[in-house]
Amino acid sequence: MFLRAGRRSGTGTGTGTGENSPAGTDRTAADPDPGDVVVRLESVRRVYGTARNEVHALRGISLSFARGGFTSVMGPSGSGKSTFLHCAAGLDRPTAGRVYVGGTELGALDETALTVLRREELGFVFQDFNLVRSLTVEQNITLPLRLSRRRVDRAWLDDVVGRTGLGDRLRHRPAELSGGQQQRVAVARALIARPTVVFADEPTGALDLRTGREILALLRHAVDGLRQTVIMVTHDPAAASHTDDVLFLADGQLAGSLPAPTAAAVAERLARLGED
Ligand code: ADP
Repeated sequence: MFLRAGRRSGTGTGTGTGENSPAGTDRTAADPDPGDVVVRLESVRRVYGTARNEVHALRGISLSFARGGFTSVMGPSGSGKSTFLHCAAGLDRPTAGRVYVGGTELGALDETALTVLRREELGFVFQDFNLVRSLTVEQNITLPLRLSRRRVDRAWLDDVVGRTGLGDRLRHRPAELSGGQQQRVAVARALIARPTVVFADEPTGALDLRTGREILALLRHAVDGLRQTVIMVTHDPAAASHTDDVLFLADGQLAGSLPAPTAAAVAERLARLGED
């Protein structure tokens, strides 16, 4: 049986969103210790489309994520989860507001500097694994290091490979692996450069229940054992129950948070937000 080894220190996120906070206002209270903050959004807005046909995907989001926290981001379809993840991870630029990663304001960076920051400070795990088909497992795992011309730390590689149980698969290509094994490669790749924060976009969405739990356990260990920060978008209340906090989005706004979430409590909150 899977047992969650959750840290419940309360330092995972600081949204300032109590249960009773009105949606849509900027929230800056209750931030974690400033020295612990690794990602910060200040009044982030993202508008798509033209002036005549605007879509307000994010309507002013302010929150902080602390080192060593595992946070889920949830909400109905179209509530802004992907847009949030893309803006927080420097894959998209907000229309207004600021995003800081490890003290660097992303808006101040040109595309080249942003790419370097993403490579060096961020890890990514996607629903569809996003592995390079022509590379072996080992080459996929070490790709972020090669892209930033960093040396492979053999001991660390062995550690990551051992942790993800890929030791006997290093010379295989992704097509020779199961979905769960491919996602293990993606987790190893996300951790190899010891990033400041790992962004996971529906990392269990393509996996069966048991394999999904194994991936969540790996992410959980990255948080508890390595003091990584993991921010995960998910639709699945059971997946969210492996995290320290859930942030709920609705219509581009923060609609509250839920510390120490159980699957039942998450499902209930989601139902109230219009999704079951
Ligand atoms: P979620 O991930 O919660 O489903 P998204 O962040 O994908 O939500 O979308 C939020 C809103 O922004 C939705 O109304 C969506 O249709 C809109 N949107 C997302 N991406 C684009 C885009 N590239 N162009 C126009 N509208 C977009």
